[in-house]
Amino acid sequence: MPAKKYIAVVGGAGYIGSHMVRMLLDHGYSPVVFDNLRTGHRRFVPGGVPFVKGNLDRPTDIQRLFERYPTRAVMHFAAASIVPESVRNPLLYYHNNVSACIHLAQVMIDFKIREIVFSSTAAVYGHPKKVPIPETARLAPVNAYGHTKRMIEQILEDVAFAHHLRYVFLRYFNVAGAHPSGKIGEEHRPETHLVPNILKSLKRSKNRFFLFGDDYPTRDGTCIRDYIHVQDLCAAHLLALRHLDNKKDSDVFNLGSGKGYTVRQVIDMVEQVTGQPVQYTVKPGREGDPVKLVASSRKARDVLGWMPTHSLKDMIASAWQWEQNRSA
Ligand code: UDP
Repeated sequence: MPAKKYIAVVGGAGYIGSHMVRMLLDHGYSPVVFDNLRTGHRRFVPGGVPFVKGNLDRPTDIQRLFERYPTRAVMHFAAASIVPESVRNPLLYYHNNVSACIHLAQVMIDFKIREIVFSSTAAVYGHPKKVPIPETARLAPVNAYGHTKRMIEQILEDVAFAHHLRYVFLRYFNVAGAHPSGKIGEEHRPETHLVPNILKSLKRSKNRFFLFGDDYPTRDGTCIRDYIHVQDLCAAHLLALRHLDNKKDSDVFNLGSGKGYTVRQVIDMVEQVTGQPVQYTVKPGREGDPVKLVASSRKARDVLGWMPTHSLKDMIASAWQWEQNRSA
């Protein structure tokens, strides 16, 4: 058996996974990308990085990945992640997220791969009682997407106990921004996220921007979120991988900046960065949208030594660069 050297980036052709692949390369790791390209983009995978097209619902595809590319750790980004869609079509989410992860865990055990960094979400907290939210807050998801992520955490905890697997769960808050190269960024169809939706409305007037809810109990009536730059997020993954490589215990960390911005503050920042006025129409709040989600990222700082270095302005500036590039 050849030495296990690869880091398998599952979902590595997607928004966050493709940024991770570049960061792994920059730090001397050997990533291999596994993706079904349903929402990922083949062109997001850098030349020279091995790519395996496959589905997590087919264990033979995962076996093919680990046979060809002896892997020592998995970073698992592949998931369906649109909250309203998960409410309308929960089985799609239980299938795409939960069943898929069961297959992945089984094949990892078969191949004796014992490290996993898993992309979880702030949605596991539902409507939190206390903000900033610590990792110890009650887990009470309020939509199918959040439930699937919480279930996967539980499954991996049990598998870890039984099979000597070690994990790091990273609970993401609101990820935004793009790679400094301008070659990759957020590209979802349909796009549901705030920053790309505002920017798209500036690029083409037919892309109207809707602000969902202006009567929440916040300073300006709009929801508060904690935005984190995709590059900072990937830096945390790298530290999580090192944490596992250093034989540290399994753990869970929130990833956010600890600062909350309302939707209107994000709009103001977009206007400041782009120099263009943002036109919008106010719509009722989306069902299940929590009023305020802000992370306590103290634990990630204390245990992993992680510190986000990019501001909201940096996120918007890099996302705007990407948005303009891809129209070219
Ligand atoms: N939002 C909005 N218009 C959009 C997209 C989002 O007003 O086109 C609001 C949304 O209601 C929430 C915030 O922006 O209050 C962040 O939403 P996003 O979908 O980016 O992330 P979420 O917090 O839902 O994961």
